[in-house]
Amino acid sequence: MARIIILGGSFGGLTAALELKRLLGKKAEVTVFCDDDKFVFIPSLPWLAMGSRRAADITLPLKPILERKGITFIHEAAKGVDADASKVISATREVTYDYLVIATGPYLAFEEIAGLGPEKGHTECIFTLDQAERTNKAWNRFIENPGAVVTGSVQGVSCFGPPYEYAFEIDTELRKRKMRHKVPIVFVTSEPYIGHFGIGGLRDSKRMMEDEFARRDIKVIVNTAVEEISPTEVRLKDGTKIPFKLSMLAPAFKGVPAVAHLGNPRGFIPVDAKYRHTKYKNIFCVGVAVAIAPSEQTPVPTGVPKTGYMTQKMAKTASSTIVSDVTGRTPPAEIPIDVVCLMDMGNTAAIMKASPVLPPRQESELKEGIRYKWLKIAFERYYLWKMKHGLSGLP
Ligand SMILES: Cc1cc2nc3c(=O)[nH]c(=O)nc-3n(C[C@H](O)[C@H](O)[C@H](O)COP(=O)(O)OP(=O)(O)OC[C@H]3O[C@@H](n4cnc5c(N)ncnc54)[C@H](O)[C@@H]3O)c2cc1C
Repeated sequence: MARIIILGGSFGGLTAALELKRLLGKKAEVTVFCDDDKFVFIPSLPWLAMGSRRAADITLPLKPILERKGITFIHEAAKGVDADASKVISATREVTYDYLVIATGPYLAFEEIAGLGPEKGHTECIFTLDQAERTNKAWNRFIENPGAVVTGSVQGVSCFGPPYEYAFEIDTELRKRKMRHKVPIVFVTSEPYIGHFGIGGLRDSKRMMEDEFARRDIKVIVNTAVEEISPTEVRLKDGTKIPFKLSMLAPAFKGVPAVAHLGNPRGFIPVDAKYRHTKYKNIFCVGVAVAIAPSEQTPVPTGVPKTGYMTQKMAKTASSTIVSDVTGRTPPAEIPIDVVCLMDMGNTAAIMKASPVLPPRQESELKEGIRYKWLKIAFERYYLWKMKHGLSGLP
């Protein structure tokens, strides 16, 4: 029986665990280590920050989902991995594996900029459930006593979508409340142009986003790096000072400390086309934890986003590869990774498709319309239903 350990219980880890058990059954003993006891539908966190979702609407307890399928759940963080001895180390145990799947997502590197982040700094963030709940409280205080808003992405960011969503959602909500004239909004980003998204843009995304920000009267500063943040000002490297009452800035990512030693200097794990570690052949890695080189070097550093859709595809490819190792079946074909993403824009939404994710591309699409908002809501409901029932085999 193959002993398989998964680190992480989100898009990558939960999908991999369910797929491996579904495909290997009694041939595998699957164990998930996760420091969170919940699956969080992260794409809904901007909605939670705006008050249109509660935590209970977008979370699922992991233990019953996994145990119903015969998967062991250990609610503990991995502290380290001894790749030479094939062991995962946590606070209470050391467990040996035949295969390891790393799906630990990002470490949020707030400390790289003085004053960044909700705990030790002066900015909000919407990347975890706790942060989004805190941002919602900050928003409720803000609308009682409004002022300037600064949002966007600092240097080194790879997950660009959420600040766009946040800017559009704030704009929409303020207009609904007839308060927009009281709130100057500035969007700062390390992208070389608006609509770059870390993937070199998508069709006419530059023009479309320039028009959208202009229509909404949101001032955009591109190609910029943040020097530091005081309680009332964002200071850019070029000396510009932007005052704020509310600021939500996305941080750069690194690999999480427990697995960073298996990765590149930023702790992202190098893998081959089937998500197998380039050095340790019994280690696989999927999702945000994977190292993906950008297709171009931007003047201010940016990274490649790894979306939930991409993560799920990576988890399925890695799982089928492990299944072929264990059973001797033909391994899956190499599939270039593509992306489909629904971006909320407050009063509307957009769909983005890119295949492959980085240019040059065979196909790409970017369309705006209210129907994509309904699609995003329907997808949230569908995905939570699918994961609640452990139906990872569904699309
Ligand atoms: C605000 C926001 C909105 C987004 N919107 C979209 C969207 O609309 N569409 C889309 O496709 N993508 C979206 N994404 C991206 C998507 O959320 C990610 O691609 C996806 O979450 C990546 O999954 P993952 O499993 O790699 O990592 P994560 O989801 O970050 O999960 C990592 C898991 O590992 C666990 N973990 C961490 N360290 C340890 C440890 N040491 N030991 C054990 N467990 C550990 C964590 O608790 C967590 O369960 C969004 C991201 C954000 C932040």
